[in-house]
Amino acid sequence: MLLMSVAFRSIRLKVTNYPSGVERRTVILTLQKEEADVPDIIQLLPDHIANQIAAGEVIQRPASAVKELLENAVDAKATSIQLIIIDAGKQLIQVIDNGSGMSEMDVRMAFERHATSKIRAIDDLFRIQTMGFRGEALASIAAVAQVEVKTKRAEDAAGTYLEIENSVVQKQEPVATSNGTSIAMKNLFFNVPARRNFLKSNASEMRHIVDEFIRVSMAHPEIFFSLTSNGQQLYHLEKGTLKQRIVQLLGNQYNSKLVSAEEQTDYMNIYGFIGKPEIAKKTRGDQYFFVNKRFIKSPYLNHAVANAFQEMIASDSYPSYVLFIDLDPSQVDINVHPTKQEIKFEDEKIIYAFVQAAVKHALAQFSITPTLDFDLDPSIQQLDAVNKPFTEAQKNAISSSSIYQAFTQKHAAHKIDPQYKSELKHWKSFYEAGQPKQEAIETNETTTQSAFQKATIPDQTYTQLFATYILVTTEKGILLVHQQNAHERILFEQFQSAFAGKVMPVQKSLFPATIQLSLQDALLLDEMLPDLQQLGYLIEPFGKETFIIQGTPADVEEGNESFAIELLLEQIKHFSNDIKYSKREKLIRSLAQQRAVKAGKTLGQTEMKQLVESLFQCEQPNSTAGGYPTYTELKKEDLQRLFGR
Ligand code: ADP
Ligand code: MG
Repeated sequence: MLLMSVAFRSIRLKVTNYPSGVERRTVILTLQKEEADVPDIIQLLPDHIANQIAAGEVIQRPASAVKELLENAVDAKATSIQLIIIDAGKQLIQVIDNGSGMSEMDVRMAFERHATSKIRAIDDLFRIQTMGFRGEALASIAAVAQVEVKTKRAEDAAGTYLEIENSVVQKQEPVATSNGTSIAMKNLFFNVPARRNFLKSNASEMRHIVDEFIRVSMAHPEIFFSLTSNGQQLYHLEKGTLKQRIVQLLGNQYNSKLVSAEEQTDYMNIYGFIGKPEIAKKTRGDQYFFVNKRFIKSPYLNHAVANAFQEMIASDSYPSYVLFIDLDPSQVDINVHPTKQEIKFEDEKIIYAFVQAAVKHALAQFSITPTLDFDLDPSIQQLDAVNKPFTEAQKNAISSSSIYQAFTQKHAAHKIDPQYKSELKHWKSFYEAGQPKQEAIETNETTTQSAFQKATIPDQTYTQLFATYILVTTEKGILLVHQQNAHERILFEQFQSAFAGKVMPVQKSLFPATIQLSLQDALLLDEMLPDLQQLGYLIEPFGKETFIIQGTPADVEEGNESFAIELLLEQIKHFSNDIKYSKREKLIRSLAQQRAVKAGKTLGQTEMKQLVESLFQCEQPNSTAGGYPTYTELKKEDLQRLFGR
């Protein structure tokens, strides 16, 4: 299987690396001399279509454009970079930098395919010091969006304004502007409707954008960055040390929880921070690797860190880290993938050993000097996100805006951490106040089963509204629970604990169903089989593309097994270019979504009671794994206030 995916990649590479046009021209030459009655059918694609196709490799979604524009600003040696987003990048992505700017000629050239100032010869590839070098980003962006550029070099009196649409320059004129470059791209994929329709919800696209923003800004604490979305400033990152930047980005809970790691050799330097073992996360959390300041994903190096942490954290937890590896560019090949997130090292084993050693040393140092706290830089302390109290009004404004939903819990926790957390505790007590403790514990023991299996006698009334919300009254007020979101959260945590040893029971089928898949889906499913078994799916390969479903978790309806698996594969593929999540996490997120009771389904008293109780047994009952709220409250005081007495 591994071999197969490698083979796929090399084929793809060959094609994408072909000098453009050469292959097509050859084809046409050989056809020219054919004497045929049937008309020839091969044509050269018009430039703008060829550009659009090529653009698909580089610009897959708003976040990819964000990455390219931010990297260009970094390459232009900017010390201040602002990112402005409207409508999750579907309407506007703008990057304003104070870097080198471009001459009138250069700005025209910059939008040509394979136009770059960063390499001149193939050998330069082995000395790459810049983030970009393929010269494809701006050409791709111009092929799929309406672009407006303002740019000026310090040495020029006037700047240049340029408008491009569909790869064609619409307007160019001198403009008064400050030094640096502003690139605004509007209406991404306006001319490729199929692609535009393929974009995910704003919440999801925004999450990708924030991910890219974090990756670039984390690697450059010497640069000021800001991110504004729909007029609201989400990040304001003053220049500072790496440690300060990490805390700015990942949240205050990291303050005093970071241990520095450093290993210097002739071959390479490793530096950065690892999270103290006590903050290891249950879900793969904050893990960042940078090679020569470029964010990369590397399961291999991740393994090196995890290995060094072994026995210091629970086996189902993931360490947090931000590690930079700097080495001679000739030792790495970053040319493997158009978005450059996968790289090849000349000698992987050495890197592995160094990473592991660096982390081990850091951990050792940590056990001798347990506190390496640092004081927050005053400039950071001044930031609203850090110091201002989070008022009720703000909270309401945020939670009802799409931006709130755009954040992963991790980021939300950063912005609204202290109060939000205490709010959460309060919530638990709020709910538990009306519940006998004993029962709560009982429910806990049954969490490996479906929330809907245990029959208990309701001791208070649960009202279902619109077949979607569960209204519960307690001594302190009323709770409104969203049944689908709540159940998704419950299942997500149940599945997580399935991997921590609470393997879910399988219900063997009397008449095992077979399922026939495409080769790609078969490979995907094959890879998932061990994990699926933990979750109660007993599936056996039967030939190359056929599987036999021997058993499923008890609550999957008999006769529906094949459909359930196909649906699951679809959902996993939806997550598939989301590199933030491990395969396993994609699986359990997908399963939780799939199996959750849907809005619109009528529930009985017992089901509602179980659902609500199980929700508050969760580690994080406040939202789904994807960040959607699971419940809201109205306290008695709120009601009194509403009515003025
Ligand atoms: P690459 O970054 O791979 O060279 P791009 O298409 O991203 O390719 O950019 C093309 C060229 O445009 C760059 O090589 C650079 O010279 C110029 N350029 C792009 N963005 C900026 C910017 N923000 N400031 C100054 N020059 C820029
Ligand atoms: Mg670039």
